[in-house]
Amino acid sequence: MDEFNPFLAMAERFETASDHLGLDPGVREVLRTPDRELTVAIPVLMDDGSIRVFKGYRVQHNFLRGPCKGGIRFAPDVHLDEVRALAAWMTWKCSVVNIPFGGGKGGVFCNPQELSPRELESITRRYTTSILDILGPDRDVPAPDMNTNEQTMAWIMDTYSMHQRRTSTAVVTGKPLNLGGSRGRKEATGRGVMISCREAMKVLGMRPEETRVVVQGSGNVGGIGALLLHREGYKILSLSDMFGAIYNEDGLDVPAVMSWLQEKRRLEGFPGATAVPNNEQLLLDCDVLIPAATENQITSQNVADIKARLIVEGANGPTTAIADRELEKRGVMVIPDILANAGGVTVSYFEWVQDRMGYFWTEEIVNSRLEQTMVNAFDEVYAKSKEHNVSMRTAAYILSIDRVVSVYRLRGIFA
Ligand code: NAD
Repeated sequence: MDEFNPFLAMAERFETASDHLGLDPGVREVLRTPDRELTVAIPVLMDDGSIRVFKGYRVQHNFLRGPCKGGIRFAPDVHLDEVRALAAWMTWKCSVVNIPFGGGKGGVFCNPQELSPRELESITRRYTTSILDILGPDRDVPAPDMNTNEQTMAWIMDTYSMHQRRTSTAVVTGKPLNLGGSRGRKEATGRGVMISCREAMKVLGMRPEETRVVVQGSGNVGGIGALLLHREGYKILSLSDMFGAIYNEDGLDVPAVMSWLQEKRRLEGFPGATAVPNNEQLLLDCDVLIPAATENQITSQNVADIKARLIVEGANGPTTAIADRELEKRGVMVIPDILANAGGVTVSYFEWVQDRMGYFWTEEIVNSRLEQTMVNAFDEVYAKSKEHNVSMRTAAYILSIDRVVSVYRLRGIFA
């Protein structure tokens, strides 16, 4: 098996959980197969007068439990298998936290670093128009992902609304606040990571003030996660970005790191820390490791040298299936992505609910409902792991697949 193919990695975890559930081959086939995959060509008039055609995807993995939900990423290496895996992960993630959505994901094959804001807007609007027939608050509700943001969501919402001839805010989440966004959405994934980490530490009998944490990535998930953990008294030894990592054995002043990053756009040169190459950061001596950057970071190549006793997956798919087996053998607890980073989609759900009600909640209400959802999900996954004597990852898949299957049995096969 190709260790780095995310769809195969997802499929392996799916099969393991399905074996525990004793699912029959037909039901497995239904749940494994994406419901719909759309590939579109996106012609764009570039600033220099030339025409370029970009490729875009939207995969709707499963909508048994509700409209598809999942981000759109713009990246120079997006491919269909990656989008398929991410869409399936969204189905399982929404089910783990028990929100009424299925899973979807989108991607546009482009290099945002080389594109002007006007070119990005053209790509976004044309992509939206091309997938318009399968979008909608009751059909498929995108959100930001790598290299897309609030502004991208505002363009999608506007394009969709112009075609519908009415303003439809609930068609995307992760929007700016004054366009129907939710308070607390920006921090939600990092907050969920913090909550998952705290709950896992309770189980392991670890205390924040004695806990040394390494965080890979310093963006929306890693940066905000690190800030919240720092506030709770954890010692954040290291943070990284795509150019390298910084390290201080006494703990970083995370708010100061974040201000530095905002100003300089990279961590490099932060005073009071030493530089560490990215490939060494994950191997640093620490208690908790939070990969919050991208896929395939903990692999067969480096797993033997990972020292953390708890791994909380902020990113999607940071651990390969081979590395996973090795960590399980060594008794390292891994809080899987579909649980640990589900705070983002949970508050996206809250945003969708608020848009549909036209009534907006305070940040305290959003945060307390997020807290409740994450703690419940953690407890349910932990209970499943004890019941089946399996890892937290397999338990999360068992819980979520079982929920989707029960809906499938109730709805029946439509022919
Ligand atoms: P982001 O673009 O805000 O931040 C990514 C960070 O990772 C940046 O600091 C970047 O420099 C760094 N990075 C990228 N490649 C790296 C590498 N090879 N080594 C070290 N650092 C690297 O993205 P984000 O929103 O924080 O998303 C990060 C991950 O979390 C992705 O896997 C994403 O799918 C997942 N995720 C995000 C959300 C969300 O709400 N933003 C929700 C669930 C899952």
